[in-house]
Amino acid sequence: MEKQSIKIGLPRAMLYYRYSVLWTTFFQELEIETVVSEPTNRDVLDRGTALAIDEACLSLKIYLGHVDALVGKCDYILLPRVSNFGFHRNMCTRFEAMPDLVRNVFRGTDQKFLSYDVDVLAKKNEEDAFLELGLELGCPVKAVKRAYKLAKKNSAAQHKVRVQKQEALSRREGMKVLIAAHSYVAEDPFMGKPVTDYLRQNGVIPLRADLTDLDGALKRSQALSPTCKWEISREILGGIQLRKDEADGIILLSAFPCGPDAMVNELILRRVKGIPMLNLVLDAQSGTAGVETRLESFIDIIRFKEGIL
Ligand code: SF4
Repeated sequence: MEKQSIKIGLPRAMLYYRYSVLWTTFFQELEIETVVSEPTNRDVLDRGTALAIDEACLSLKIYLGHVDALVGKCDYILLPRVSNFGFHRNMCTRFEAMPDLVRNVFRGTDQKFLSYDVDVLAKKNEEDAFLELGLELGCPVKAVKRAYKLAKKNSAAQHKVRVQKQEALSRREGMKVLIAAHSYVAEDPFMGKPVTDYLRQNGVIPLRADLTDLDGALKRSQALSPTCKWEISREILGGIQLRKDEADGIILLSAFPCGPDAMVNELILRRVKGIPMLNLVLDAQSGTAGVETRLESFIDIIRFKEGIL
């Protein structure tokens, strides 16, 4: 592979919200150009929905729409395969299947894809996966190692800043609602963003369960479920434990139909007591009006409970 001429496409969906700094720093350090798809809009969603099977979750439909938007605009589209980070630290199976699934959906195009494989149970850690990726791109070992190290450092620094912002928000006066969602659901303009926008417009401060100290959250998740095996769900469970005392209510925000969330949200509803909770499942048809009505009632419930209404 001739490194200089390569442009890599990054779909702005799913793991992009977790790894954007890691990926962009890594490629930048190796002097490889990247292009990110535009934020989700109705066209991206419709294109993704047309490419997906009906049973696919909304996040996957949106992801396919982003891949479609990048087809023909770059040499390679990055499709990471992230299976697990060790025992009881699995990712949803969609992340395991992603490279095969996308290659199959786009088999009729000339688009080329690039992947890396994180599967700690099979002795493939993230550092090795990035080393392999860099070498495949024709970069020298030393440069790849340096790029990965800096990418990890920048990614951790970005997360720390975001956690500090959450801590500052939690100290502010006013009603606060904790959003328990995968980052790609919470931040997507067609899923979680309308929810957080509505809360802000109505004087409520949204907090995020996934923006906490992740190692601490993994440990704290044990109190709610010692057996939950999904990494991101465990981070959210732990995030709820760490942040729930700062919040007046919790919104469980999911993409329809999400297998892990269906189980984990039920667990949260049964085990987290003494705080109002709203279980909001978003699908491609969820109009903002329907979501706003439910949010309005939820805010009223909190106000009523706190004697404000
Ligand atoms: S965890 Fe849920 S929303 Fe995320 S990819 Fe899996 S099924 Fe989709």
